Amino acid sequence: MLLLPMVTHPVVTALISGAVREASVLGYNVAPLFSYYSYHGPVFRVMLQLNRGKLVDDRYYGFISYCHQCGNSDTISWDKLGQISCSCSDSKVSSSPVVSGPLWTGPLHDAAYVTEMLNLAEQWGWVGSGKGTTNLEKLLKQMVDESDPRLPFGYIKLDEVLLQNCFHK
Ligand SMILES: [Zn+2]
Repeated sequence: MLLLPMVTHPVVTALISGAVREASVLGYNVAPLFSYYSYHGPVFRVMLQLNRGKLVDDRYYGFISYCHQCGNSDTISWDKLGQISCSCSDSKVSSSPVVSGPLWTGPLHDAAYVTEMLNLAEQWGWVGSGKGTTNLEKLLKQMVDESDPRLPFGYIKLDEVLLQNCFHK
């Protein structure tokens, strides 16, 4: 069985998580401004913003669980690490979920930053004004959509993805 993150690409997530971890050791914190992955290559690019000081808000840096029993995936904060369970189990602490981390579980792009990029692209005549929808415009708009922190983070089985895609066609 192959597990895939639902929204993010695993390599991009691993890259950001590694940077967050390394920066934290040196007393800094990082957050992604934008991430780009292309299956042609494949190519992975992440632009990170580095700030002084440890990560104060660790809501986007935690663990993810996956329940082998029901397929449910969840994000787990550091303080909840000792009490992982799944709602499909009667007992308080279930043995079924597996846990990965610590990982970056937040958005892969900063909406404000990408919107600014889109505005600049318009000013410079790279997008808009009768050009039709260019690939650049499509990409930047997709990044803005993907930067919504409410998007679920977690794992999904590859066969479930294939199954869902079959039903949608
Ligand atoms: Zn479960």
